[in-house]
Amino acid sequence: MPLISLVLKRQIMQDQDKTCPSSKFTKGSLLIGIKNEEEEMELLADPIKITEEVYLEIKSLGVKPEKAVRVANKCIKSGCRQWTGEKCGVIDDALDKVENQFLKNHVPECAIRTTCRWYSQQGEIACKVCPLVSTYTEYPTENKFFRDLAS
Ligand code: SF4
Repeated sequence: MPLISLVLKRQIMQDQDKTCPSSKFTKGSLLIGIKNEEEEMELLADPIKITEEVYLEIKSLGVKPEKAVRVANKCIKSGCRQWTGEKCGVIDDALDKVENQFLKNHVPECAIRTTCRWYSQQGEIACKVCPLVSTYTEYPTENKFFRDLAS
C-alpha cells in the first residue's frame, strides 16, 4: 500500500478512536468528573468505571446524573446530535459562549486527553473550559458561567 494511503488510513483510524468527554450516564462508561461546590467539574486523575454498583449508587442520589458528573465514552460522531458533520459542536459552542475571564488558568490533569474529542479539536483551551461544561442542564442558568454572564 502506498505511504500516503497508509498515513490517511492511520489518521482515519485515530479519528474513529476518539472519546466523548460528555457522554450519557450508562453502565460500562467511565466517570471522569464530579461537580464540586463551585459547580465546576473536577476531573478525576483516575476515572471510575461505571459498574452496576456505581450506577445504582449515583442513580440513588435523586439527581439527574449528567447534571452532577461527567462521563466519557466512545465518540459516535454522526450518531450524536451534537455532531456537525465534521466535528463535535459542543466544545466550539462552549468556547464561543464563555468569555476568556471565566476560563480556567490551568490545564487540569485528565486521564482521557490522548483520545479526547474536544482536545483533538481545540487543544489546551478545550481543557480550560471543560470543567465549566455540564452534560445536562434543564435551564441555561444552571451552568455557572451562563449565570455569571447573566448577572
Ligand atoms: S477537554 Fe481536556 S480536560 Fe476535558 S476531557 Fe478532554 S482532555 Fe480532559
